[in-house]
Amino acid sequence: MNSRLAIIIPCYNEELVVKSTVETLLGVLDKITSNGKISEDSYIYLVDDGSKDNTWNIIEELRATYGERVKGAKFIHNYGNQKALIAGLLGVREIGCDCAVSIDADLQQDENIIETFVDEFHKGADIVSGIRNDRKTDSFFKKHSALCFYKFMNILGVKIPPNHSDFRLVSKKALDILEMYKEEGLFLRGFFHEMGLKTAYVHFNVKPRKLGSSKFNVFSLTSLALNGITAFSIVPLRIIAVCGFLTMLGSFLLALEVMFEKYVMHSAPAGWATLVILLAFFGGLQIFCLGIIGEYLGQIFNEVKARPRYIKEKELN
Ligand code: UDP
Ligand code: MG
Repeated sequence: MNSRLAIIIPCYNEELVVKSTVETLLGVLDKITSNGKISEDSYIYLVDDGSKDNTWNIIEELRATYGERVKGAKFIHNYGNQKALIAGLLGVREIGCDCAVSIDADLQQDENIIETFVDEFHKGADIVSGIRNDRKTDSFFKKHSALCFYKFMNILGVKIPPNHSDFRLVSKKALDILEMYKEEGLFLRGFFHEMGLKTAYVHFNVKPRKLGSSKFNVFSLTSLALNGITAFSIVPLRIIAVCGFLTMLGSFLLALEVMFEKYVMHSAPAGWATLVILLAFFGGLQIFCLGIIGEYLGQIFNEVKARPRYIKEKELN
């Protein structure tokens, strides 16, 4: 089958690894091509996410050596891994491809699995998601924060499988749908999962990073997680309304109890009952009103994102 494959690599200060990564992946492309699964004009697309080191120069050298099999783009400054990935996906869509795989520049993900991704694509999957077998290479903090994140997302109704990664294959059809989403803070893991296209899962082992250090820190990971939550769910806003309602209910029960103390037990000091009831009632009312505002805010949030109202899978005209 003559499918054109593009491999996307986001790179941020990766001068130590980018050359060997590109050479390894060209080898992978050669192998899959010689097995007759992808076309010879398959290529690698590097997105330099505003590196401050020598990464882009090395990419240009690689272009000079390997010609059009190495393509790429450079951001003017660092926008973060998600934006680099989106730029890569939209970039290869414009250049042209039948499917695209994204992989990290440090090749921590097993590049030999890409062939299995392509097999699944030929079997009809539009999304082939890499699922990591374990998190042995992650720090204690990263492992546990990631697990909490996926649990929380599931509670919020965003059903991303845990240990999901940005190592995946997507078809041209998925890229066309991605192009219709104009929102700024798109969270790719949630997005590709929600789209409803035929998805296959392939497990892979994570290797330790050979050279250089992780480009993520506590802040960028927290920001990624918060972005993931707020881009996909208005449940946190709804929680406010529920809290307000419960507080009002509580204040009503409290009022009954206070009246009982005042009129039946005659044990309440003067003015106390009124004070407690007013305090509880207005506290609850305020949170409830905030919750109502939250509901409208949620509507505005959904409108502002201007997602496509629906996506047709098939059509007979
Ligand atoms: N990356 C990026 N921009 C950033 C941070 C990271 O493009 O601001 C890239 C990085 O070059 C690598 C990938 O995202 O290709 C994953 O980063 P890293 O390996 O540092 O993350 P980890 O494996 O520690 O999760
Ligand atoms: Mg890594």
